[in-house]
Amino acid sequence: MHLGTVLINAKSTTAVLLDDGTVLDIAAAAVTHTGDVADALKLGSMLHIVDLGDEAVSAIKTLVSEAKSGQHKDALHALTDISLLAPIPVPRKNVFCVGRNYLEHVAEGDKAQNNKVGVSEYPVYFTKTPTAVIGPHAKVPIFPSVSENIDYEVELAAVIGKSGRNISKENAFKHIFGYTIINDITARDVQRRHGGQFFKGKTFDGSCPTGPWIVTADAIGDPQNLDISLTVNGEQRQTGNTRSMIFDIPTIIASLSEGLTLESGDLIATGTPSGVGYAMDPPRYLKHGDTVVCKVEIIGELENTLETTAS
Ligand code: MG
Repeated sequence: MHLGTVLINAKSTTAVLLDDGTVLDIAAAAVTHTGDVADALKLGSMLHIVDLGDEAVSAIKTLVSEAKSGQHKDALHALTDISLLAPIPVPRKNVFCVGRNYLEHVAEGDKAQNNKVGVSEYPVYFTKTPTAVIGPHAKVPIFPSVSENIDYEVELAAVIGKSGRNISKENAFKHIFGYTIINDITARDVQRRHGGQFFKGKTFDGSCPTGPWIVTADAIGDPQNLDISLTVNGEQRQTGNTRSMIFDIPTIIASLSEGLTLESGDLIATGTPSGVGYAMDPPRYLKHGDTVVCKVEIIGELENTLETTAS
């Protein structure tokens, strides 16, 4: 299932995308049901759905079948009548990110910076704050007084369902609720000037476009075999497949959860393939008015336009 957080008549709620392209307002449809799960669905919060996991997914599937058989007519909307927000509009904590996780991206970075860092023995981690998260079609702010070296990175992101610590590779997929897309917008100069860590240049306000949907794990098939790509103003910049990750998703989850509890609703961006702007010769950074479209097979397209911000 494709689950989203949407605005319907200016009110935030959760929705599921149906096969015919319409969306079902989950909270509105759940009003016809009673019980703890239905009561949670009525709250219209993606975090409540992710927290409940399989129970919520099963209840939503029931609502979808009921809609297909003619019920919930008032809860059905055309995609054109709603606006998508980030699937989890305000994560409970920072978004976890993996850096340097595709070989050709590592190589292009080393070439552009004229060094030989190569592949690391362990995954490289950094985070993006909840204030960085924005939804599809929201403007990505550029702050020219801070940085004009703004770059893009399309990434597959896992959404944690079942919490856990010291998770084994074998059990990793049991902890994943679903997947979404993240654009890891980066201020390259700021990323580099703060002593060898990425955080400062990776977490400007609005630098984590997320969405358009969370696709439940059962609907993704093999998350390590998804085409992933990005265009800027229609020009192809990044193309790859998630099979090319250096550290695959089970390895990332096992490593990240060592001594650290991954919790329901946590987002983990898994790195970007080659084709980023700073590694081009000469570098091609994003500017006001540029439209970036991130695409991951099955999940959909995440489109955002950049906008210069005065303050
Ligand atoms: Mg990245």
